[in-house]
Amino acid sequence: LDVIAAVEPTVAAAIGAEIADQRDSLKLIASENYASPATLLAMGNWFSDKYAEGTVGRRFYAGCKNVDTVEALAAQHARELFGAQHAYVQPHSGIDANLVAFWAVLAQRVEAPALAKAQARHVNDLSEADWAALRHELGDQRMLGMSLDAGGHLTHGFRPNISGKMFEQRSYGTDPATGLLDYDALAKTAREFRPLIIVAGYSAYPRLVNFRIMREIADEVGATLMVDMAHFAGLVAGKVLTGDFDPIPHAQIVTTTTHKSLRGPRGGMVLCQTELADQVDRGCPMVLGGPLPHVMAAKAVALAEAKRPEFRDYAQRIVDNANALAEGLLRRGATLVTGGTDNHLVLLDVSSYGLTGRQAESALLDSNIVTNRNAVPQDRNGAWYTSGIRFGTPALTTRGLGTAEMDQIAELIHTVLSGTTPGTGNDGKPSKAAYVMADGVADRVAGQTTDL
Ligand code: PLP
Repeated sequence: LDVIAAVEPTVAAAIGAEIADQRDSLKLIASENYASPATLLAMGNWFSDKYAEGTVGRRFYAGCKNVDTVEALAAQHARELFGAQHAYVQPHSGIDANLVAFWAVLAQRVEAPALAKAQARHVNDLSEADWAALRHELGDQRMLGMSLDAGGHLTHGFRPNISGKMFEQRSYGTDPATGLLDYDALAKTAREFRPLIIVAGYSAYPRLVNFRIMREIADEVGATLMVDMAHFAGLVAGKVLTGDFDPIPHAQIVTTTTHKSLRGPRGGMVLCQTELADQVDRGCPMVLGGPLPHVMAAKAVALAEAKRPEFRDYAQRIVDNANALAEGLLRRGATLVTGGTDNHLVLLDVSSYGLTGRQAESALLDSNIVTNRNAVPQDRNGAWYTSGIRFGTPALTTRGLGTAEMDQIAELIHTVLSGTTPGTGNDGKPSKAAYVMADGVADRVAGQTTDL
């Protein structure tokens, strides 16, 4: 930090403050973790200065032999860890990985002349009509993904994301009575809609997805099954999700981030069956520029860590902890979406506390508990204020916390939320953001979080 401070002290101070925040607060954001020192060090070095467009052994720049070493190693670890036929480790993020995958499927399945035309077009500032024309040229391709309020991700076909512009999109959701994925309704929609791609995977669904059933539905309607396992890749790597719940044997193409439950550097990855490998490897330059060699080096380190037997134990403890947290909250009268969890995340409906997600998130943050607000199915407060809080256990499990601590955390969360009421805005009217906490609650709870 001294080296950085000599150049830009504000950055050094911000890094120091971030380390302190991440050390002293309870990090319950389901998409976050703590990467190991080996992973962090592999990322912060001179590899970041190297350009290496192309693929291993076939670069557009000279002097890439060391980058070849780490890229080939990361891909090998990924193939072996997940039992995948092919791995592409260049994507800079989960969104990039998804774009690479979408384009690979389009390129594999859409006739070449239309695709060649689309590739030649300048896409900046396309109007809705232009996008419709472009989609038409691509054969009016369709995507079926999980709806946002059921727990899907923006990149699964939603309007603010390019996936919602590349494809005509429809979504599937959960059964309003149980909160569980409704496979019969999904199959019905797939039969009517006949998508090119069915996307499975989620950011906020607390249960398992049966990928065997998803593949049967995809096969029936001639769709490619793509699974975005960004959230639960660590549980697949750690063999907690096996058989019907392991996406690799079932999906033709699987994408992931490397920084969530997998506990690697910030980045993405595509795993696919051999038939798609050639198209996937064209991710650079179709979607990506130069790969990030320092991040690929860190991916190789993190994947090597995930191959160790200890990682299986870690993955199991993530799920045990999520269960303990869910049970602790239920015992204190909380309402959970689907009534519990099978994976690393818990979705709490805070309307039973009379709060919006935004109010609850702020009150928890004041008490040193870091979470994010999240829509619940059929959310009446919309995607900005929401009615839910999403909790995830990968980060605290890395810190060594166990099921007994999860019960203590459930008590702290309950104390904060039952000690918080909606407030009024500056105009004196009820506000979905303002909140009032009972005297001393935030300080008392914050004091207890640092003991954990
Ligand atoms: N896919 C899923 C399911 C996610 O939850 C996320 C991020 O939260 C992404 C993709 C995007 O990942 P990134 O933020 O690395 O682009």
